[in-house]
Amino acid sequence: MNAIAFDNSYARLPGSMHVGVAPTPVSTPRLVRVNEPLARELAIDPALLTAEVAVGNAIPAGASPLAQAYAGHQFGNFVPQLGDGRAILLGEVVDVNGRRRDIQLKGSGRTPFSRGGDGRAALGPVLREYLVSEAMNALGIPTTRALMAATTGERVYRDAVLPGAVLTRVAASHIRVGTFQFFAVRQDFEALKLLVDHVIDRHYPQLKGAENPALALLDAVMEAQAALVARWVQVGFIHGVMNTDNTSISGETIDYGPCAFMDAYDPGTVFSSIDTYGRYAYANQAPVAQWNLARLAETLLAFIAPDREEAIRIATERIEAFPAIYTKYWLAGFRKKIGLVSEEDGDLDLIQAMLDAMQMVRADFTVTFRALSNDEEPEALRDWLPTWRERLARDPQSAEERRAFMRSVNPVYIPRNHLVEEMISAGVERQDYRPFEEMLRVLMTPYEEQPGAERYAAPPAEVDGGYRTFC
Ligand code: AMP
Ligand code: MG
Ligand code: MG
Repeated sequence: MNAIAFDNSYARLPGSMHVGVAPTPVSTPRLVRVNEPLARELAIDPALLTAEVAVGNAIPAGASPLAQAYAGHQFGNFVPQLGDGRAILLGEVVDVNGRRRDIQLKGSGRTPFSRGGDGRAALGPVLREYLVSEAMNALGIPTTRALMAATTGERVYRDAVLPGAVLTRVAASHIRVGTFQFFAVRQDFEALKLLVDHVIDRHYPQLKGAENPALALLDAVMEAQAALVARWVQVGFIHGVMNTDNTSISGETIDYGPCAFMDAYDPGTVFSSIDTYGRYAYANQAPVAQWNLARLAETLLAFIAPDREEAIRIATERIEAFPAIYTKYWLAGFRKKIGLVSEEDGDLDLIQAMLDAMQMVRADFTVTFRALSNDEEPEALRDWLPTWRERLARDPQSAEERRAFMRSVNPVYIPRNHLVEEMISAGVERQDYRPFEEMLRVLMTPYEEQPGAERYAAPPAEVDGGYRTFC
């Protein structure tokens, strides 16, 4: 049996960037699930992925467990030290496609960054993160992945006493906007420079040798975040806690806490119980991404230009370009969703008119776009359909091509909140993971109608405006 071929580049960065820490052993590890296809993609023999490894009781050879230091703006308030309070990076592997990937345990015990927290995760959120992150990946949206879920046998104290669990998370890296903020607030320019180089090497190698690497990096992260948030919006995904410490530099969706998918279309939708003012509402996600990127830009000022005023001027100009960059991705994605391969000036208004019509009657976002893909005529769009048909007549695709094209971008299946809750209850209350397995199976091919899976496509019986998620 081959060992995991760890190559831990982050652990080789200076000690100010991380703290070595071992997972806390737990009493009764039990595997809930191993993601075998992902293990093979990581060139890991699935036989090595035992319950003991999944909870951190056994550390695979070659791992160098550590907690990463980072800061962050949480709901707009700056916290100079957050860090991995309940996550431990085991190390990195280079996958079969040559991509470097982090392997991290989430919920494996306290670290020097735990503050008041217990370092643990409860089974419910672990099942949600596993399912939703794998569903996002199947939808084609950049995301961290789930390699394993295991229960610990420990009790976790939240509002109730809950079964403990650990999620093994895989990411291009866990470097966030907040990682840059950690060193910027300490004026540790040496560490910042190493971080810039590390990130360019790892995520944006095409920028190596750029005239102004920090500025090129800012531009690249802006593109990645704009593309990502546009993809979220196009499947009705609401991240729920877009703090700068949850904004990945690689452009992956990270940290599935109070996230949820919108059923009825309403741009003001908020699910998170802690998001009292709707800061992270569906339609605020692009402006918030821009705000987060401005925080990244601030950390890079010293590298952007020697003169601070000049650096601010350049960075501001870049950040102000974000709405246009985002609109480019938004428009490209929604054009596809309504079946267009050609581009006309009026397309943005046409798409907006559709969304406005849906909002008026709170039409189901996913069902409406899928119905349109099959040339069913949703009642909500009666007045809009003639303009769309007129526009389609000027598009080169045949009706048949267009329907197939639309079906490839408008999913049948998203992780519906009411079904996620049902799946979690079965797992947590009865150790019945069949709903988890079944739902996961359906969500692996979200763009294909699957016989017998109708309940996974259906919106909730009642539009549930009161649905709330918790971290
Ligand atoms: P999050 O809201 O999940 O992005 O977490 C924000 C910060 O709180 C991060 O520094 C986490 O590591 C930390 N944190 C969240 N939950 C816990 C916990 N149960 N124990 C220790 N730290 C935690
Ligand atoms: Mg986080
Ligand atoms: Mg979290």
